[in-house]
Amino acid sequence: MLLTSRQGTHLAKDDFCLSCHHPRNVLEDHIHPPRALKLPAYLMSFHDLGIPRSTATVCVTAFNVVDARAVSVLANTLMKPVGASYELFRFPIFTFLITHTASGRRVLFDLGARKDLENTTPAIAEDVRSGLIVMPIARDFVEQLGDYGVQAESISAAIWSHAHFDHIGDVSRFPASTDLVFGDATPRKTRPSHPQAMLMESDLTGRKLVPIAFDDSSLQIGGFKAHDYFGDGSLYLLDVPGHLSGHICALTRVTPTSFCFLGGDAAHHVGMIRPTAALHHSFPAPPALLASTKHSVALTAIAPSASIDTDTDQPFDLAARTTPLLDVAEGGYYEDAPTARASIALIGAFDANPDVLVVLAHDESLLDIVGPEFPASLDRWQERGWKERAVWAFLEEGNVAFRFGDTKEEV
Ligand SMILES: [Zn+2]
Repeated sequence: MLLTSRQGTHLAKDDFCLSCHHPRNVLEDHIHPPRALKLPAYLMSFHDLGIPRSTATVCVTAFNVVDARAVSVLANTLMKPVGASYELFRFPIFTFLITHTASGRRVLFDLGARKDLENTTPAIAEDVRSGLIVMPIARDFVEQLGDYGVQAESISAAIWSHAHFDHIGDVSRFPASTDLVFGDATPRKTRPSHPQAMLMESDLTGRKLVPIAFDDSSLQIGGFKAHDYFGDGSLYLLDVPGHLSGHICALTRVTPTSFCFLGGDAAHHVGMIRPTAALHHSFPAPPALLASTKHSVALTAIAPSASIDTDTDQPFDLAARTTPLLDVAEGGYYEDAPTARASIALIGAFDANPDVLVVLAHDESLLDIVGPEFPASLDRWQERGWKERAVWAFLEEGNVAFRFGDTKEEV
């Protein structure tokens, strides 16, 4: 990536001071400005998140294992507020094939849901029977990988972001040579010996289990404990607690200087992580959106903000809003809502960084950007300008992720 200096000459990123980002050739031995000084967005980089330098990369291919408009759960189990018109949360389930460029080793990040959910735990089976969970799957991840020319035998490891049913797939369909990787705090009790367990015995048997114990790592990235999976800086697993014990995210280096943050279920809707002051700074919302959201976003459809008085008749002001529009719901699928909020606050810095594309497992707003064709390579997201198109798309009324219109009542 090239940057242009005030003099109009092209500078590579390495030509900038790592500490304060002044061009080296202009200010040798300069005094670093205080860290609180806001950097212009074009000088922000992955260095600001503490991501080590490396030229080692991975290729990331995203799959969608479901028809997003056919899948739904009750939104109030995930987020709040939920307007009367938005009781159902319809979502895709993204899974990822990650190929280590240097060695060709293949790993998966999340497996999606299995087709036969009626054969999993009684609680999930009952929710499927009663219609609380609607998740028809035409081609599951293993079948889609086969269609793509990738056989299960070639996968060296399956990585779970966490142990919920829509992420763990059916591990028994992979050969014994496929390791299973997960956060060390993942609950590992299985049915039938533990009747309340969320995992089946077949989920954990017949292969090498690789729990990632982050306490052993001194590496921190963006405030999260990190594990360098391939040992060369191409794939970091991050300890991102809150949603479920053991929840992890993946930070993939798709070029030496650009990354995809695979967020799992750290948040379910991008309105739970956007906006932030930093995002406004890096990616100012287009004037047309600032104007349209004054009318399209109802104050009853968004979480209250400490800095904005929602009791007034003033219209929504996107530019003034510096906290996410949606909050984590208590008592639903989030095991520890306060910790989930703390993790989301850290993810906000990744989301505001021009070198990182945040991809949540169920981010329906990305369907208009990445889709409609899956599998989709994410490797060139930066040069294709996907982030500029993606960050505010959820606030466009025509976007499938828009859920902020005026409704008469709240749930
Ligand atoms: Zn999920």
